[in-house]
Amino acid sequence: MAKLTFLGAAREVTGSCHLLQSPATGRVLLDCGMHQGGDAVKRLRQEEFEFDPARIDTVLLSHAHLDHSGLLPRLYREGFRGEILCTAATYELLEILLKDAVGLYLRDLERENLRNARRGREQSEPLYGQQDVDGVLGLCRPEPYGKHVSMGTAATVIFHDAGHILGSSIVEVRLNEEGAAKTLVFSGDLGKQDSVLMNPPCRLQHADVLLVESTYGDREHRSEDNSIEQLREILHETWSAGGNVMIPAFAVGRTQDILFHLGCLLHRGELDNWQIFLDSPMAIAVTKVYDRWIKLDHCEEVRELSEHHRQSLEQFLPTLQLTREVEESMAINRVKKGAIIIAGSGMCTGGRIRHHFKHRIWDSRNTILFAGYQARGTLGRLIVDGAKHIRMFGDEYIVKARVETLGGLSAHAGQSTLVNWIGEFQPPPRVYLVHGEPEAQDVLAQRLLQEQNLQVETPDQGHQTHF
Ligand code: ZN
Repeated sequence: MAKLTFLGAAREVTGSCHLLQSPATGRVLLDCGMHQGGDAVKRLRQEEFEFDPARIDTVLLSHAHLDHSGLLPRLYREGFRGEILCTAATYELLEILLKDAVGLYLRDLERENLRNARRGREQSEPLYGQQDVDGVLGLCRPEPYGKHVSMGTAATVIFHDAGHILGSSIVEVRLNEEGAAKTLVFSGDLGKQDSVLMNPPCRLQHADVLLVESTYGDREHRSEDNSIEQLREILHETWSAGGNVMIPAFAVGRTQDILFHLGCLLHRGELDNWQIFLDSPMAIAVTKVYDRWIKLDHCEEVRELSEHHRQSLEQFLPTLQLTREVEESMAINRVKKGAIIIAGSGMCTGGRIRHHFKHRIWDSRNTILFAGYQARGTLGRLIVDGAKHIRMFGDEYIVKARVETLGGLSAHAGQSTLVNWIGEFQPPPRVYLVHGEPEAQDVLAQRLLQEQNLQVETPDQGHQTHF
């Protein structure tokens, strides 16, 4: 029998991690993500593995986002020396994301240690460091989509395009236990049907056990076209008000979508004379990876542009300014009006966006434009939920800026896409909803029951099942 344990992203949206054990596969982790929200140093201290990292044979990594990959360096530090299978693009992004994350973590820890030293309290040792990130990268084995990759003694892994971010995959595991063939499919994060830079999620037909994300299980998205229209209107209104626009964006995926949409508006002559800043060294590095893998030929209108403009997102949006250095980022503060600032982190838990908030969130002429999911417990979620005052850098700030969300730019599938994607599997597998907050999962479970007579499970953390 194969055993599956739900260790993270169970009735919640971050910390994706599940453990598959079978004589055919060995001990396999599906993702090794960190929880997000709150203080990173404290949070990491609370993350304990509920298994022995040294005994894990393989990690199957669905994609590079930290809520799916962020604990890999710690896994390595605690003895993991197996293989990490992922797609080649995931590997490239992983390197950028993990290096950035360890840098932030060590800096935060140093600050905490300094504070503790001043109070005469104990110092904490880092739980992992740069050398562990290098260790993780050394264990990665990049594979292309669609290839049958052997694992364990009698199992095969296939990555299928999930259309969520560059390199993202649906992980299919086929195993053979004493002549019995079984298939487990793990959706990872599924993308939307009409994303401009990504393909729609690959549709599969067969699984015995299916783990599906359910981030937007209770919601449909606006269409991408509506979002561009919404973006155009919000930008124009903010421009007319003499304000600036701050876009907290995930470095991977959303940033590139936004750059693409801004480019489209520019080429159509529908963009005012904004100064556009991509204020994140990580997002700049990631955009360069996207440029190597993605073709800008989404629609007729784009294909008609010259080869030069379609070569990279930077050339597609020539008014874009890349600000890598801290001094360049601080110089943006001097721009009184007419700046679009794209900066991380996507949920405002850290990064340069908070510094821009400090300078602009209390001014009603400005706009904060959210373009992605805001998890519970994050500053972004507080603002989206309408907080009038927020605390940052030990101070209180009034939120007077206009707050908007571009619903259609999500990198996740909306409810109908999820329902249709699950409905493709015949005969119906055992379905487990993961990576969703309870409300979203319950609504999705109800709809699947009504429309497809499909009884799905929403496992709690630690839940085990056999198949
Ligand atoms: Zn993701």
